[in-house]
Amino acid sequence: MYKIMIFIDGTWLYRTLPRLAESCGKQEFKVDYGILPKVIARELGEYLGVGALGVDVVRNHLFASLPTNYDPQDAQLITRQEEFYRLLKEDYHYQTEIFAIDFRGRRVRHGDRNPEDTFQPREKCVDIALASQLLFYAALPSAMDIAVVVLGDRDFIPMLNTARRLGKRVAIVSVRSSCAQELAEPHDQAGVKDFGVIWMDDLLDELELRYEPQELECQSPDHQGDRHFWTTYRPRRGEPVYCDACRQAYAERRNGGQQQDAGEDYEDYPPQEGMPGLGETLGGVVDFKKEDKGYGFITTDDGVSFFFHLTDLEGGLAFENLDEGQEVIFEVKALPKGGKAGAAQRVRPPEEAAE
Ligand SMILES: [Zn+2]
Repeated sequence: MYKIMIFIDGTWLYRTLPRLAESCGKQEFKVDYGILPKVIARELGEYLGVGALGVDVVRNHLFASLPTNYDPQDAQLITRQEEFYRLLKEDYHYQTEIFAIDFRGRRVRHGDRNPEDTFQPREKCVDIALASQLLFYAALPSAMDIAVVVLGDRDFIPMLNTARRLGKRVAIVSVRSSCAQELAEPHDQAGVKDFGVIWMDDLLDELELRYEPQELECQSPDHQGDRHFWTTYRPRRGEPVYCDACRQAYAERRNGGQQQDAGEDYEDYPPQEGMPGLGETLGGVVDFKKEDKGYGFITTDDGVSFFFHLTDLEGGLAFENLDEGQEVIFEVKALPKGGKAGAAQRVRPPEEAAE
């Protein structure tokens, strides 16, 4: 099994979208970030001759920026962008690193600003954050076998060279019209890659987001305040929809006041009794650790087993110092199914439970 991590230059991808739209003759093109890692895994699995099941996407990272100090007329635009980053994190389990860009009171879209205004928004940290994170994981012995980067800028060449010197294989996912020559070149003089570039241009049909986030109205009679919320969920005709807050409140009441998340899918609403919900925080002990492979299992007080990878550790926990029998808390990333253990994320020391 090949472990891969995906590192997306969100700023580059966002800039590239109009070109992708053009190449499929549409007004606009939106990427389905839920599908993207699966398509990448399949493409790499084919290259490696192991199929999609031979490739395990252990983590997706996205680096991007978000305007601050912008003209209040753009509030809705920015709320929508914030909501998009939240979806990536909560629904698709991306690790997101988002950096503020100061707009100094200006409108966010260039076309909405006074044409005589020479103001240039300056993005900070995004490239360096991507490079630091990638090289951090490349330097860990067992975090990943292949670093997959979704980008096109030449600035990343030294990072790709270094990742390969650390013994990791590198795959590049890019867009033909927005990819630096040195990255694209089949003979790879720059020494940046171990596979042919995976061109998004060739996969547009699969990568297009068909269920984009939409604004719905919460129909809970107990709802407080503005009823509008954004979601990618598509309710069936006539099916009532509820915002996160109302689902959570409902779940808490149902569980006699105990804290319990309603889970991510509306399919789970109302939640099944006795089953932990996705995203719920549970406590347990580390009961097995596979040193050389960088993973282990946590058993909860109820005897349910959850898998974790070293990259799921947080709050100062380091894989090498983790003892079997040590108490931890974690978030449920996947539920146990058919005798298979569940999966844990955000594994951290119990002290943080008080938050
Ligand atoms: Zn509500």
